[in-house]
Amino acid sequence: MKNQLKPTLRGILGSLFSCALRAHSRIYEPSGPIVIIAPHPDDETLGCGGLMALLARKDADLRTVFLTSGEASHRGHPIITPATLGPLRRAEARAALTALGGPALAENALFLGAPDGELARLPEAAHAAVHAILVNTIRLAQPGAVLAPYPWGGSTEHTAAYELARAACASAGGAQLLGYPIWAWWQPFRLMPQLRLGADNLRLPLDASLRDAKKKALACHRSQVQPSPPWPSPLLPSALIERGLSSHEFFFREYVPPRLAPTARNP
Ligand SMILES: [Zn+2]
Repeated sequence: MKNQLKPTLRGILGSLFSCALRAHSRIYEPSGPIVIIAPHPDDETLGCGGLMALLARKDADLRTVFLTSGEASHRGHPIITPATLGPLRRAEARAALTALGGPALAENALFLGAPDGELARLPEAAHAAVHAILVNTIRLAQPGAVLAPYPWGGSTEHTAAYELARAACASAGGAQLLGYPIWAWWQPFRLMPQLRLGADNLRLPLDASLRDAKKKALACHRSQVQPSPPWPSPLLPSALIERGLSSHEFFFREYVPPRLAPTARNP
């Protein structure tokens, strides 16, 4: 059923689950420093853009770590290649961070350059290198929270990113790890088990100015939110954009794995 869901139905389901999560969560009162781990450029904006804009206004120490450059998002495209897409998406990410929090937020970003689409099967040496950089970043920042993608959203890349973040938090001495949903909004039933964990679900209401900052930042990810001719549609599904620009962000401290199997997705 999941692959036949129409975009409008996905949007309606996303709204319903967002309402349910609002009733099964408590308000997040964040404080810096914060480390944001994004497997691909655009995950940071979709999942945490409002939080980043809010904390940037308070001059909090925010460090964004992009594990990959998202260079594999246009597989099969007749013109756009990974070689051109990697630098483009890093530039888009810097522009998005500037929109969220000014140049300092962009300057504080790290791009690790791990291969897009391969996070779940990194060679040992590459895995160790990513782990070491994440541990070092967390130790230096001493963050109030480390943010990584919610691990049960259906993306093997995002699950791998969460596992890398979890291991790094443990090695760095136990920093609090929060998961932000991205691809779960594509299959909102994946969030059903989360409704049992009200006290461990955090919600951040976004006022109009935070949503506006997030909208401007998401627009910077042009390769994802605009069509890449001759492909007629943007890569990012409308249901994800709609949720990404909605009135709340959610962050989960604990998880109940859903029964749905992961699917390979890498945007
Ligand atoms: Zn992603």
